[in-house]
Formats: sequence, structure tokens, C-alpha cells
Amino acid sequence: MGGRDATMVLLDENGIRCDGRKVDEPRRIMIKAGGLKNADGSAYIEFGDNKILVGVFGPRDVHPKHMSDTDTGILRVRYHMEPFSVGERKNPAPSRREIEISKVIKEALEPAVMLDKFPRTAVDVFIEVLQADGGTRCAALTAASVALADAGIPMRDMVSAIAAGKVADTVILDVNNEEDQAGQADMPIGYMPNLEQITLLQLDGILTPEEYKKCVEVGVNGCKLVYELQKKALNDKYFGNGGD
Ligand code: UDP
Repeated sequence: MGGRDATMVLLDENGIRCDGRKVDEPRRIMIKAGGLKNADGSAYIEFGDNKILVGVFGPRDVHPKHMSDTDTGILRVRYHMEPFSVGERKNPAPSRREIEISKVIKEALEPAVMLDKFPRTAVDVFIEVLQADGGTRCAALTAASVALADAGIPMRDMVSAIAAGKVADTVILDVNNEEDQAGQADMPIGYMPNLEQITLLQLDGILTPEEYKKCVEVGVNGCKLVYELQKKALNDKYFGNGGD
């Protein structure tokens, strides 16, 4: 939260947000499964103005070998923002934020992936943020789940993700960059809809216990919408005309 910007109207008198959405309306979401021929699985997502590409490699041998585990496979995730993905050029060196988001996404995916089925191996997930506009970790996590499924990695469920938040004392779904900067709270949620389990929950900002509950409810419902689009992306590739 960047503190409140008094000049910005985040919610007008008709309940319309700064980008024209209603409080419970997600941004336009487009997911495509596949696309990278040199990856074992891949996905591309547009989540509002976020544009993110994910490549999955593996299960494959672990290098360095001492990182391998004889009992289970390991998941490795690299979240990376292109220098041109944001208005003010980002330093290409990995930032603390990118390292943290890589860890958060890895931990959010681990409950979904049946790592015990391929001991001694690694599955690598490479996330490239081409354009960022708030909510990249949720969009990346959503696309990574599709890319893992596209790679044929055994999974218990997919993880679907979206953020709930608060602007002008009102709970909203799918926080954009302006709302993240000038709003009151941002709560990214990752959820496995079939298993009904939350695998990611972060909170930046301040909420009352009631608002907290509402954010979780709104976020989980948003994840269910995202899940339908993830399934559609896979269906389009494998059973429809959208494949390559
Ligand atoms: N951002 C930026 N420069 C940076 C990092 C982030 O402009 O070096 C923007 C970007 O649009 C990002 C947003 O700030 O989506 C919010 O970042 P946050 O750390 O909250 O993660 P996100 O919401 O993307 O998961």
C-alpha cells in the first residue's frame, strides 16, 4: 500500500472503480495453454494489462545433484520481470521482491503437484512477466498451474489465483496497480477449487475481522471464475481448435 492519494477517485458515487469496473468484477482474463515448443508445458495469460508467459521443464535430472531428494521430486520456480514490463525500467538483476514472489508461488503450487510420483527429479517453472499492472503473482500462479497441467505433471488440482482488496472502505475483487498503490488493502489468494483449499494468502494493508472474512469469500469466489478459464484453456488446446 502506497498510502492514499487524495486526488485519485478509486470508487465513485455509483460504485464504479477507477478503471470502470464494478466492485466484484474481475479484469478481462485470457489464458492460452501451450505455445512454447521447447518447453514440456507452457501457458500465456493476460490478466487485465498483465502479460505473463510460463514455461515448465521436467520432471528432469537435478543439477546440482545434491539438491535432489530420493523420496520426492522437487519444484523450482523462478519469477522474473522483464526490465520493460513496468513504466520505470526495472533493473534486470533479480530483486528481493522477485525472489520472494518465486518462493511464494512455489509454496502455493507444491500442495497441487504430486511430487512424490517422481523422486530424484526436478520440475522447473520459469515465469516471465512481459507487462505488469498489479496482481502479477496471482496471474503468474494461475498460468503456472495451466503450464504444469500442459506438461502432463500429475496434479491433485489446479491452483487458481486472484486478489481481493479494499478501496474507499469497500471490499473489491481483483486489485489493479492503481488500487494497489492508493487503496487500503491487497489480499492475493491462491485456491484449489476442487479440493477447497487455500494455498496462498497474503495481506498488505489493514482490514477489520469482518472485512477480512469478506475478502477471503470474494477472493475464493473469484478463484472459482479463474478456474473455469484455466480449464477452458486446456480444453481448447487438447479438445478444441485452439491447440498448437
Ligand atoms: N511494480 C513496478 N515496479 C517494480 C515492481 C512492481 O512498477 O519493480 C508494479 C507492477 O505493476 C506490479 C505492482 O507494482 O504488478 C504491484 O507489485 P506487488 O509487489 O504488489 O506484486 P503483484 O501485485 O504484481 O503480485
